[in-house]
Amino acid sequence: MTRSSPKKKKVTGKARAKSRTPLAKKRKASAKKPATKVVSVDALGFIPPCPVTAIPAITDAVALRMENGERLIWDNTAAELKAAADKLVKAIRAEKDGSAVITSAYRPQAYQDHLRGVWDRARQLQGNTSAECEQRRREVRAEMNRHSLNVNVPVAAVSNHTAGRAVDIDWNLPNAVDPNARVAELAKAAGLSHPLPDTDPVHFVLS
Ligand SMILES: [Zn+2]
Repeated sequence: MTRSSPKKKKVTGKARAKSRTPLAKKRKASAKKPATKVVSVDALGFIPPCPVTAIPAITDAVALRMENGERLIWDNTAAELKAAADKLVKAIRAEKDGSAVITSAYRPQAYQDHLRGVWDRARQLQGNTSAECEQRRREVRAEMNRHSLNVNVPVAAVSNHTAGRAVDIDWNLPNAVDPNARVAELAKAAGLSHPLPDTDPVHFVLS
């Protein structure tokens, strides 16, 4: 997902350019190469590293499934969650021009950590235009887009999706006088609450 050593290539290129270097010396230089030593990078005149660290790699199996596109996972959810979510979806769709799609249920903490890690970095990079962070900004921007995150909307460090009690439903009630009030009513009838209508409108929790 994210690469962290764009400098490697440059080192090779630079080393090759010095074609007069005796072979033994060359070999010695390239043997040292694997270490991502900040010192040697600076000494060779390359730009210093970005102070914002790379997005950590995901290792958790379920988090990887999600990162690879499988976003709706019912494993580890409360027994009544899926039935409640299905009931709410049906109720919303029964309203005039109502639409609803379940987009997320269980999320392992590792996946939440990933989302939070991306968002944290996006916030740290806000207003940063330095050359040394250009690559990092690209990586973070790509992940922000991939996960539809907004730098102004904080990602919870701990979410009740990890407890299997929350579901995200992308819904629309274009004909309701007060869509938030109406969806809260329908949610309540389905056994769910709608705790964050303004900041996280897709989020419903078992009540
Ligand atoms: Zn949610």
